[in-house]
Amino acid sequence: MRQTVRSAAGVALAACLALAVANCGGGSDGDESAETPGGPAAFGADGVPPASDEDPPTAQRFRVDMLRHGRDAPRHSSDGGGKAWLEDPVDAVASRPGTWTILYEAGPEGVAVGGIVRLTIPPFWHWSDPQDQMPTAPGYTTASCEAEGVALESFVPDRGVFQVRIAGRALREGERIRFVYGAGRGKARADQFVERESPFWIMVDGDGDGVVKAVPDTPTINVLPGPPAQIVLTAPSTAHPGDEVELHVAVLDRAGNRGVAFEGVVDFPGVPEGVVVPERVELTIEDGGVKTVAMRVAEAGVVRLLGRAMPADAPEDFEGMLGESNPLVVDERAPRILWGDLHGHSNLSDGTGTPEDYFAYARDVAALDVSVLTDHDHWGMLKIDANPEMWERLNAAVRDHHEPGRFVTLFGYEWTSWIHGHRHVLYFDEGGAVFSSLDASHESPLQLWDALREQGVPAMTFAHHSAGGPIATNWDIPPDPEFEPITEVMSVHGSSEARDSPALIYSPLPGNFVRDALDRGYRFGFVGSGDSHDGHPGLVHLASPHGGLAAILSEENTRDAVLEALRQRRCYATSGPRILLRTALDGHRMGSTIAAPSGDEPAFLYVHVTGTAPINAVQVIRSGAIAQTIDCEGAWQYSVGLDLPELSAGEYVYVRVVQADRGLAWSSPFFVE
Ligand SMILES: [Zn+2]
Ligand SMILES: [Zn+2]
Repeated sequence: MRQTVRSAAGVALAACLALAVANCGGGSDGDESAETPGGPAAFGADGVPPASDEDPPTAQRFRVDMLRHGRDAPRHSSDGGGKAWLEDPVDAVASRPGTWTILYEAGPEGVAVGGIVRLTIPPFWHWSDPQDQMPTAPGYTTASCEAEGVALESFVPDRGVFQVRIAGRALREGERIRFVYGAGRGKARADQFVERESPFWIMVDGDGDGVVKAVPDTPTINVLPGPPAQIVLTAPSTAHPGDEVELHVAVLDRAGNRGVAFEGVVDFPGVPEGVVVPERVELTIEDGGVKTVAMRVAEAGVVRLLGRAMPADAPEDFEGMLGESNPLVVDERAPRILWGDLHGHSNLSDGTGTPEDYFAYARDVAALDVSVLTDHDHWGMLKIDANPEMWERLNAAVRDHHEPGRFVTLFGYEWTSWIHGHRHVLYFDEGGAVFSSLDASHESPLQLWDALREQGVPAMTFAHHSAGGPIATNWDIPPDPEFEPITEVMSVHGSSEARDSPALIYSPLPGNFVRDALDRGYRFGFVGSGDSHDGHPGLVHLASPHGGLAAILSEENTRDAVLEALRQRRCYATSGPRILLRTALDGHRMGSTIAAPSGDEPAFLYVHVTGTAPINAVQVIRSGAIAQTIDCEGAWQYSVGLDLPELSAGEYVYVRVVQADRGLAWSSPFFVE
């Protein structure tokens, strides 16, 4: 159990905790927030309803109370006053040490004695925590002020936060505080992920009542990639003989960041018969390691293309960076698979990088067909539900990157309920609102679905990390069949599918898995999605043990077609790799509802898998349990037909695929009526 919790899960958990701390514990919040020395017990007089008897046992009502308190606490006019900027703003390099100096200058109202000026380092990902105890260790931070009579009492109230309290006399307009982050010999380690506009938050409590607010125009820096370290090749999963398809070539750094300084050549050793690609592709510095190449596939078969990236200045004995593409099945009848990542975050909430860079990575590097940025309604330093211009910016990025037929983007956000569990709201057209989970009138999923019904914009919701993780889904409220046809079984948090699933989610809640929800009679299609906070939608598994992708079976790539496919459960989930999975039950396609076979006739289940690695097993799950495990003996492609005897109304059947490299796929279930 313990082992399954490490790395990605640990990272995700750390992120959640970092923000929990940032938002709640120390009150290190954004412009909406407050700090209450008395903690949660001091709340209650602000109109927030007390914990309700109807809350599920998993509810984290204290968190809602604190977020509401932070949102509603009155701000003094001097809170958030003044300005901040970086002195000599040098770019950071991912995971490398550096020193950054942030200057704060008091505004017209100054900062009173007892007031606070706070520096918050971005909680994502792996910046050194600021500390004031060990000058030689990373993250050592100092604050100084030249104004005569002003004394600074510095302290570190929480991870990621360094602050000073003003003593002696008030800090007056124009007087400055100089923060040096990474002031010691150990400097400070930068984020491991590339990011434009990574913010150093400066927050000010001007009157000394404990309530802080961010200064306008928070200083930001850019985080640049490390050296080229890997090549990722992505082709579509299916094509017809004679087609010309796009092959995406991406030379990335160790953490999967784009934009590397790569100058050199990519070639394709051992091109299979019937495949035509350029002999060599030149990449210049301007390409940033990313290029799209035309590839023609003449004959039926499975193409796995090997690529080799060779820097121009490589030493003679360097053999190049090697990578193999996902399998491309060339077949006249192969149904088209759209690869989607329906869930991830940018720096509009608690993720890395801008919304624009998120979509550009999804399209150019991960070669996704469908991409959704679902920033949190009320989580992060500034909150989307309280800042309409942030929701507008997110929607503008969605609009700007939408190319029907080639790259579909959807509008959406994460309804971050700490009572009933997190759900994503996807909008398939313009005009959707943020119905915030923090808002008492949209606190339950029933209220959310009612609001969506009333609004009338084509919409969908789905639950994620439903079996545990930061918070489990309250399955006592039946998912609305109109709005919730799918559920996320896999993401960076791990698998919520079932207790017996590999890559199990951390903090699993017995009886709360997706399979348990099916046992209650709920009907879902399955998707995976990354929940990327690293700016790498579609490829979150590059830097984490697992991720998630949604395979959407649709010949057309438009918002309408994607909506239709998901509603019909024509989709399946993977842990990140582009495994091809086909299933049919008595000739019906994946996700179908079928009539119970008559008489003694068994139902016939057909399964066909094309792996991205050797396949260890195909497992058939039937109504609550693994009915059969088939040893695939490491085959890269595997087909099997099985009789399912005595299949009766009320049952469900789905398939799980386990690869030798721990890659996973789950078909959507069939439901028997
Ligand atoms: Zn979430
Ligand atoms: Zn999320």
